[in-house]
Amino acid sequence: MSYVQEVFETVKKRNPGEAEFHQAVEEVLESLAPVIERHPEYAETGLLERIVEPERQILFRVPWEDDQGKIHVNRGFRVQFNSAIGPYKGGLRFHPSVNLGIIKFLGFEQIFKNSLTGLPIGGGKGGSDFDPKGKSDREVMRFCQSFMHELSHHIGPDIDVPAGDIGVGGREIGFLYGQYKRIKNATEAGVLTGKGIPYGGSLARTEATGYGLVYFLKEMLEDHGHELAGKTVLISGSGNVSIYACQKCQAYGAKVVAMSDSNGYIYDKNGIDLKVIQQLKEVERKRIKEYLNYHPEAEYSENYRGIWNIKCDIALPCATQNEINDKEAATLIENGVMAVAEGANMPSTSEAIKLYQDHKILFGPAKAANAGGVATSALEMCQNSMRLAWSFEEVDQKLHGIMVNIYRSIKDAAKEYGMEGNYVAGANIAGFQKVAASMMAHGI
Ligand code: GLU
Repeated sequence: MSYVQEVFETVKKRNPGEAEFHQAVEEVLESLAPVIERHPEYAETGLLERIVEPERQILFRVPWEDDQGKIHVNRGFRVQFNSAIGPYKGGLRFHPSVNLGIIKFLGFEQIFKNSLTGLPIGGGKGGSDFDPKGKSDREVMRFCQSFMHELSHHIGPDIDVPAGDIGVGGREIGFLYGQYKRIKNATEAGVLTGKGIPYGGSLARTEATGYGLVYFLKEMLEDHGHELAGKTVLISGSGNVSIYACQKCQAYGAKVVAMSDSNGYIYDKNGIDLKVIQQLKEVERKRIKEYLNYHPEAEYSENYRGIWNIKCDIALPCATQNEINDKEAATLIENGVMAVAEGANMPSTSEAIKLYQDHKILFGPAKAANAGGVATSALEMCQNSMRLAWSFEEVDQKLHGIMVNIYRSIKDAAKEYGMEGNYVAGANIAGFQKVAASMMAHGI
């Protein structure tokens, strides 16, 4: 058994039942085999055994009271995975599907994604199985306060800097930040990112993941002699990432024909009316189905995964992990998809990725393609440290530069290891190199 295989066997044995974590680790380890061959010192110092084990995992109780006075208990998580190149950095996810395995897969991915941004941020992730859906603002506030009551002991601007993810947006970050400030009796703006603009947030952070995804996509397409303008695009999800990916696609002249939520998808052959989606999702917190009230000629289906049956040139999965399996990937390919770029974290199964690769579909893996969100979080931290605020254009321009650099660096890394065009391997290798060099320098 090779060193890489041995490490993977240990991961499976040590973390039973954590399927998503195994999936994320397996993909990275597979890509790293040629790097390990070139660097025997990595095996000699157990570098891979070390990198697959989180530095620290925090599990805690989150009790809170609902509007009727009933007490609920949820579970809180923060996995501080790797701090070799900077403070742990990564979002908080509030969703009933959250468990330790999910947080570990997300934290593990975050190490390499954050490294790819070129900014000094380590990898971490956290969250809770709390479901903000259907809760009142006051209930969400009480939950966030209880969550931060414990989390505040473990984070700080130079230690660990959480942000949003699924179920955690500006409202939640505001409540979390308020509670941190009360507990610490100090203004430490850099402890959380995705903050509101009046209290230390960065302009363009809300837009960053979606915009960054499209900057990456455009670079990848153009590098292969294609244009984004005129292409038909599917975007799953209707949260932050999806909305701003849609906005940027439209700005570049592409036509987005479908978006979804966890109840179903909307197909509008005339092109999605984004203002309606924004009103429904950002203001009213309603279901995407309501789009029909504004555009009765559009079609709605309750099978949200059915979105991948629609004919398109480009697919942007921006909802959640494993939302495209091999069957769905095969349908996309049959229907002539030319590029897939991932706005969500690990939205394609390993089998789906294999199919993209076999059919030479241009594929931007999540670690690279959705890194614009966390990159802009790092820019927010930078502004907080300097106690100043950049303009929207300034942040957006930096984001654009970062995404172009990410594309070039993963392309070069793939080429360097004889896997030209394999951006999965390129992203894993390019992300790994800096972390590995730092861990070697720091000793065991
Ligand atoms: N949750 C986002 C991600 O998956 C952003 C994390 C951050 O800004 O720290 O990368």
